[in-house]
Amino acid sequence: MSKIPLGVSSCLLGHEVRYDGQHKRDLYIMKTLGEFFEWTHVCPEVECGLPIPRESMRLEGDAENPRLRTGKTGIDHTDRLVNWADSRVDQLRKKSLRGFIFKSKSPSSGLYRIKVYAENGHSRPVGRGLWADAFTKAFPLLPVEEEGRLHDSSLRERFLEHVFVYDRWLRHNEEARSLGRLVDFHTRHKLLIMSHDVERYRSLGKLVAAGSSMPLDELYERYIEGLSAALLKQTTAKKHGNVLLHILGYFKKDLDSWEKAEVIELIDRFKAGEHPLIVPISLLNHYVRKYEVEYLAQQWYLHPHPAELKLRSYM
Ligand code: SF4
Repeated sequence: MSKIPLGVSSCLLGHEVRYDGQHKRDLYIMKTLGEFFEWTHVCPEVECGLPIPRESMRLEGDAENPRLRTGKTGIDHTDRLVNWADSRVDQLRKKSLRGFIFKSKSPSSGLYRIKVYAENGHSRPVGRGLWADAFTKAFPLLPVEEEGRLHDSSLRERFLEHVFVYDRWLRHNEEARSLGRLVDFHTRHKLLIMSHDVERYRSLGKLVAAGSSMPLDELYERYIEGLSAALLKQTTAKKHGNVLLHILGYFKKDLDSWEKAEVIELIDRFKAGEHPLIVPISLLNHYVRKYEVEYLAQQWYLHPHPAELKLRSYM
């Protein structure tokens, strides 16, 4: 499998580009994720022309439209960074990125809860770094996350699963669009979408079913918007439990009552937090192979990302 193109803040890869000349190397990103992803790294502050080292900066003023100023001398670098970001997003369009991992707590790169300072010197964690803001506006469908949140197993799994779905979507779009191919894409993602958002799964199904009534490009656009919104909804043990029981239903005639009871017990114990999702999934995958259930074998839910990432092995 070829590596998937992903964007990342440069300092997370160990580049010494921070205001103090240091880096923020993240070994999980570099080593574990580095096996599967090809990085395009971006340091907005250095790429827009600021030196290393430099005075640290912060967001000030209106949280919706903050200014980026140096902390002590008050030099305003907003226009410099915003103008650079305009041209950088144009370059990145050619890269076909599948997502971006941003450095947290940065007034340039942070995605969430960045401090915005008022005139009286008080701050509130309500902002978004200027580069992160420009990027997410330019690429609203791309999965994005901060490195710190990747240490949370459920957030990590949601982000990476989304990245792999988006990768399949872009690969799907490399060939000629057709309603039949979109139906196939949707069918193979059925259980995965259901594990996030059953309602959205149903509305996507209706959209695809009515697909012949609208131009193909409009259908594709509406589909990926709906799919992206569904994947942003967090899965829960209950939602996974429902999907797993749905899968069990395909083995009504194959499994005896003892085998069914064993699967149900594993699902219940997963829902109770006694073991990770990979446990019931592994047994069901075993039955999929043993009884050659073609429909389930095609479901991305049962193998959404490389097993080496061990994403479903956490409690
Ligand atoms: S947080 Fe962003 S701006 Fe700061 S050093 Fe890292 S990549 Fe550069």
